[in-house]
Amino acid sequence: MLLEVRDLQVEFKTRDGIAKAVNGVTYSVAAGETLAVLGESGSGKSVTAQAVMGILDMPPGRITGGEIVFQGQDLLKLKEDERRKIRGSGMAMIFQDALSSLNPVLSVGAQLGEMYSVHRGMSRADAKAKAVELMDRVRIPAAKERVGQYPHQFSGGMRQRIMIAMAMALEPALIIADEPTTALDVTVQAQVMDLLAELQREMNMGLILITHDLGVVADVADRIAVMYAGRIVEEAPVHEIYKAPAHPYTRGLLDSIPRLDQKGQELYAIKGLPPNLMHIPSGCAFHPRCPMAQDVCRTDIPPLANVSEGRRSACHFWKECLNG
Ligand code: SF4
Ligand code: MG
Repeated sequence: MLLEVRDLQVEFKTRDGIAKAVNGVTYSVAAGETLAVLGESGSGKSVTAQAVMGILDMPPGRITGGEIVFQGQDLLKLKEDERRKIRGSGMAMIFQDALSSLNPVLSVGAQLGEMYSVHRGMSRADAKAKAVELMDRVRIPAAKERVGQYPHQFSGGMRQRIMIAMAMALEPALIIADEPTTALDVTVQAQVMDLLAELQREMNMGLILITHDLGVVADVADRIAVMYAGRIVEEAPVHEIYKAPAHPYTRGLLDSIPRLDQKGQELYAIKGLPPNLMHIPSGCAFHPRCPMAQDVCRTDIPPLANVSEGRRSACHFWKECLNG
């Protein structure tokens, strides 16, 4: 297994108390596999990814338990300089907002080239040639002419391609993409997602795709992990989840995707708000919003039960949900 996150716990110290952002998350990603991690904001999906990347463990965030095993090594036991090496070439992250992730006063060619001059000790001329090659690879038209341009001279979609190029430059084994297309127009979204999926296949990388939008991942993900209040509530191969969700929260997410055949009808929305992480509801954290909630849901935390091969659900009534 390329990456195994085991029982990860992360807390944040805030003025009002301790927020439990991640409460025992376990997931894994194999080489060449795409795991989509889905949830509303505050579900812990980004925080888990930041813990994997090693860009979280400093105040106010703190990893309080668990293991993150990458290529056989527990990352939480490594020293910061060893961690940094892995961050450079073993794994890379793509963020939502390319404009704030790129350096505005450095040409994109210089930024891409830096990956090679800093990490691989290449000469400036060689690094520049590599930068052009990378821009070609992420299909930026006229790469040779545009290599000297600055980030603001590119469209949002092209900038996100540049971010992808940066992440891929050192051919990492794992890419984490946090809402990589959320800031883009719908048509551009699909193109960028296709590109990401294509490069991932070519390079046989593991990909963690973090999104709040179940509609985005159907075509590219192998498996989906749905998070709520810092826990995984359902995990399944992608097609099974679309066919029949085994958790009422997943069902709510599915029902709120706009569909062509329902044009004009009002879109379903899960009622209520995501929980305050300083006061996570007792029992099943989803119970105040769940249309299937019973008494037991208010008192007993549902275990992540095996539904079938490769499929788990943390709902006392997953069978009813699956059949409903
Ligand atoms: Fe709903 Fe109860 Fe299942 Fe939680 S355990 S999702 S409240 S039915
Ligand atoms: Mg986020």
